[in-house]
This record gives sequence, structure tokens and C-alpha cells, in this order.
Amino acid sequence: MQVGIPKENAVRENRIAAVPGSVKTFVDWGWDVAVETGAGVAAGFPDEAFVEAGASIVPDPAIAHRADLVLRVGPPTHDEISLISEGTVLVSHLDPFVATDLVDALADRGVTAIAVEAIPRITVAQSMDALSSQANVAGYAAVLLAASESPKFLPMLVTAAGTIPPARALVLGVGVAGLQAIATFKRLGAVVHAYDIRPETKEQVESLGAKFVEAPTQAADEGGYATEVDEDTAARQQEVLAEFVADSDAIVTTAQIPGRAAPRLVTEEMVASMRPGSVIVDMAAATGGNVAGSRPDEVVDLDGVTIYGPTDLASHTATDASRMYARNLQEIADRMRTDDGFDVDQEDDVIGPATITHDGRIVHPRTRSAMGLDEEAP
Ligand code: NAD
Repeated sequence: MQVGIPKENAVRENRIAAVPGSVKTFVDWGWDVAVETGAGVAAGFPDEAFVEAGASIVPDPAIAHRADLVLRVGPPTHDEISLISEGTVLVSHLDPFVATDLVDALADRGVTAIAVEAIPRITVAQSMDALSSQANVAGYAAVLLAASESPKFLPMLVTAAGTIPPARALVLGVGVAGLQAIATFKRLGAVVHAYDIRPETKEQVESLGAKFVEAPTQAADEGGYATEVDEDTAARQQEVLAEFVADSDAIVTTAQIPGRAAPRLVTEEMVASMRPGSVIVDMAAATGGNVAGSRPDEVVDLDGVTIYGPTDLASHTATDASRMYARNLQEIADRMRTDDGFDVDQEDDVIGPATITHDGRIVHPRTRSAMGLDEEAP
């Protein structure tokens, strides 16, 4: 069994899909691991650490992609797909409902592709849930960005040079990233308010010592995800949120509805009502933005209020993001492991739903429907 760990080439990507600890586990299973030269350096894992864990270092991306199992953080490019051998199993972020040209190319190449985004969020798969592990890291990094760019202290300070009041922070969207954002703002000493459309989040917000903003809520779908709100509810949401936005020094927004554009929670008028020097980090910028004026990977200044739309937050904390992601992939590999290699069992209730392409076919119903194909693979 050969495992390949290529170097990630995407701009601003510092993470790696394996760390010395996960490599050592693969080696203990009797697998050979090839890590591309320098693949872990940006995450703080030099080549020597991988060699010590039992890997070989290979200089050529073609070798790192020519393995039974290829582990990546970001999707391969078309050029990289052409390096992958037929029958190889690839585990990676693939953004399969959007990057459908890559899905086509992976199927044509005969690659079995498992998308970490499609790992079901069921109890047995929690240790494999890369969306959660990386959202957790990103929520933390968003608050550090807001704190470092804010011209204010976050905690209250009582000094001989005067008393500084604590900063007021607001977190909108209290899923995995939002909960970590609340906890991080609290650790830094800010006064924190938070809001989510799902009513069950009130208790979670309060258990972290923050205050819940009493705007409208509505029940989640059967999967536990938020559903879209109607115009009337959105207007009432904005009416209540307006007062809290105006009074905030730092805001982190994380609200998402799977498969849809992110809900707009902060309007232009609300941004205009904030004090100059206030900072907003819109974690939903890539999917349309929770905040009027935010743009992916850009910094926008609206009359002294700065709006960040970073899409690479997990990569800011690349060492621990990689540790957590590598553990998720190790658990996925373990799930597929058999006595003499591994088996991508389509009947398995974790691996089956996460398989996008298999045996030259696109097998994932939601991906097929996003591509305009019949949900059922022929
Ligand atoms: P997400 O990234 O899809 O969305 C972030 C948050 O935005 C959610 O909390 C959502 O309710 C909120 N939101 C959406 N529309 C909103 C609106 N109009 N106004 C305010 N907030 C809005 O969420 P996520 O972090 O992926 O988590 C989604 C759900 O999945 C949560 O219930 C979470 O607890 C659950 N989950 C379960 C598992 C598991 O293993 N069982 C793992 C991870 C997450």
C-alpha cells in the first residue's frame, strides 16, 4: 500500500494532509508513505520530521500522486489529476457541487474520489468530520484577525493611565465556527453577544458566557441545518440586529445555509451606523456574504469600518489545522482499511455517501443532480 502526500500549490494554502503522527500510524499499519519535498514546511513540519516518522521524501509531484491512496487538503488541478493513476483513491476537499469540471476529470481518469465535504455528520463519523475541524480553526482565526486589526483592546484594563472598557463583540451564526468565535472572544475578554436562527443555539451561547440576541428563530431541518428565512422574518431579524451591530467594536459572521447563498444579515445602513475603527470579519464572503460590501479575500473600508472577507482562515493556523485535518483523514483511511489494503465500500454508511467518483462513474447523487444528471448513476 502506497500513500502519497503532495505539496499543496493553491495560493495562501499552508496546510498539509498528513503530519508526522498520522504518517507514523500509516507506517505502523505496514503502509509506505511518500511525502513531496517541502510539503509540510509552511505548516511547521519539515521533511526530516516525516522521515523520522517513517516516510520517504519525493521531489516530484508525479510520484506523490502515483499511489494507492492520495491525501490532499485542496482539490487537485487538471494537471495534477493527469498525474493520478487509474484506480487510485483520492481523499480531499473537492467542492464537488461547484467544481463539476474536476469531478468529470476525476471520473474520466478512473480515480475514486472521496470528498471530505460529503462525509455525513453522524455520530460515528465525528472524528472524520473535516468541515467541523476546519470550521473550528477558522472561527478562532477570525477572532484573532478581528482582534489584531481592531484599534482597541478587547479586555477591560484598569491601569494607572486610566480604565479601558472591554470591547463589544458580536457573533452572527452559531454553528461550529461561531461557537469557537464566541469562546475565543470570551478568552480575550470582550463582552460578547451572539445570534443564530436555530433556537437551540441560545442555550449553547449562554453556556459559553455570552448573551443571546433575541431576534426571530425558526426550527432547523431534519439534518440539523438552518433553512432559509422569508422576507418578513429577515426584516424582523435586521430590525433587532441593527441596535447590536451599531454598538459593536468587532463582528464575526459565519451564517451559512447549505447549498444556498449565505443570508445577508448586516446591511449597508447597519455598517454605516458603526463607530469608525470597528472591524467586521465575514466568514461567509465566498458564498455571497453575510455583510453588505464584503468581498472574498479583500479588505473593504466603509467610512472607517473595515470589512474582511478571508477565505483562508484555517490556513492562518496551519500547524494545528493540519494536525486536526490529518487526524480526520487518518480516521477515514482506517475506516477503509482491510487486512491487505483497503476497500472503498459503497455500502458503508460513512464512505459510501462521501464517494463522488468510483470505477470511472460519478456516483454521488447530489453531485450528479448539480451536474444536471439523473441522481441515480447508471
Ligand atoms: P453552517 O456552516 O452550515 O452554518 C453556520 C450557522 O449559520 C448555523 O449555525 C446556522 O444555523 C446559521 N444560520 C444560517 N442562516 C442563518 C440566518 N439567517 N440567521 C442567523 N444564523 C443563520 O453550520 P455548521 O457549523 O456546519 O453546523 C450546522 C449544524 O450541524 C449545527 O446544528 C451543528 O451542531 C451540526 N453539526 C453536527 C455534527 C455531528 O457530527 N452530528 C457535526 C458538525 C455540525
